[in-house]
Amino acid sequence: MKKVRTRFAPSPTGALHMGNVRAALFNYLFAKHTEGTFVLRIEDTDKERSKPEWEQDIVDNLTWLGLEWDEFYRQSERTEIYAKYLTQLLTQGKAYYCFCKEEDLEAQRQDQLSRGVAPSYKGTCRTLTPKELEKNLQEKKPCVIRFLVPAKIVSFHDLIRGQVKFDAGLMGDIVIAKDLTTPLYNFSVVVDDFEMTITHVIRGEDHISNTPKQILLQEALGFTRPAYAHLPLVLGGDRTKLSKRHGDNSVTQFRIQGYLPEAIVNFLVLLGWNPGDNRELFTLEELVKEFSLERVHKGGAVFNPKRLDWINGSYIRKKSLKELAEFCKPYLESAGFDVDLPLLEKVVSLYQERLKKLSEIVGFADFFFKDKLSYPKDMLRWKKYTEKDAKDALEQCENIAASLKADEWTKEKLEQVFLAKATMGDRGYLLWPLRVALSGKEASAGPFEIASVLGKEKTVERIQEAIQLLS
Ligand code: GLU
Repeated sequence: MKKVRTRFAPSPTGALHMGNVRAALFNYLFAKHTEGTFVLRIEDTDKERSKPEWEQDIVDNLTWLGLEWDEFYRQSERTEIYAKYLTQLLTQGKAYYCFCKEEDLEAQRQDQLSRGVAPSYKGTCRTLTPKELEKNLQEKKPCVIRFLVPAKIVSFHDLIRGQVKFDAGLMGDIVIAKDLTTPLYNFSVVVDDFEMTITHVIRGEDHISNTPKQILLQEALGFTRPAYAHLPLVLGGDRTKLSKRHGDNSVTQFRIQGYLPEAIVNFLVLLGWNPGDNRELFTLEELVKEFSLERVHKGGAVFNPKRLDWINGSYIRKKSLKELAEFCKPYLESAGFDVDLPLLEKVVSLYQERLKKLSEIVGFADFFFKDKLSYPKDMLRWKKYTEKDAKDALEQCENIAASLKADEWTKEKLEQVFLAKATMGDRGYLLWPLRVALSGKEASAGPFEIASVLGKEKTVERIQEAIQLLS
């Protein structure tokens, strides 16, 4: 069999989003599974909308996700190649210059719509005489290049969707370039897929209506046809195509929130593919081994952020404390804290089980890094107990804490001595004010876990500050 070559062909006209990158992943996996080649092709023929910073965003995020490409191309550097093939089509009479004015085309469209006919170009400029053409070109009349679309049924076998058929007769002659040096999407894709010997075009289902156009262009140019696989649409919670309306789905945004690259890859592959059993967690290497297009389904794939959280949490739990601390550090630093890594390692040990994304560390654990806590004194009161009760309880806590030696300052020992002293009714009267005094929060890890990480000195200091607050 021919060596597999796939391509990911994003347009650098905005931030790389999750739907895009899913196509990148499937192309990567299919290529790597078959020991083939994965090509990254930047489709920047739209000169106005393409921006270098968006190309950088694509490159950075693919690299971060570990989806490394074997070859890199930029369409804006390939103008001559497209011009050559455009000239070929023009010379062979398979494409022609069209001088129709935009307002005339619009009137035509409106007329067709009002008659309930699918709008398509009527072919006015198909029949220009060589003289008229010459004259128009000399006068530099604004024009575009149209492809003479043969009226026929185009059918192709899609590796995911099976047999697909389109009636090209309904299409009208499509614009394939603004001029010789400005090709449009369908044309440049066809030329590149051929020139780059792409064997499999794997892309979102939203491109399926482009495929017959591309096939007809291939036929006109005498190119071979690659295999096609159109991936199911990625849907939002309301089951409409995932888009900006569903919020910011850029990869960068997920990265900033503290989703791990392996979690994103794992989440994305399940948007359309399944392993055939109930496993849910896969490394990229495992996916390379197991991936096949046969296991990609046709139906839309719903983007479920809760599932992403669950997967991310699973990968967070697989990290060593040292790694996790290093990942969390920048979040605390950008919240303005000076972070001591050994302390942070202890802190993350308390939260590893419940972190769903790294950015949550700030809300969970900022109090470990603050010099002074600030919270309303009423928070120190447990249920029906009074401020006076809270103060008494904290004084008792201070005494217990002070009685422990430095080498006894472990979570287990703290728990043992405090619980032995917490004799009244439910233990909340003692443990609630203690926990609030140490964390300044309504909800946090348990008081002994916190105290063991804070150390004796800081624990006693915070208890004293709480007593102060109540005095
Ligand atoms: N540049 C197109 C896009 O970003 C690529 C489509 C294709 O894969 O052919 O949607």
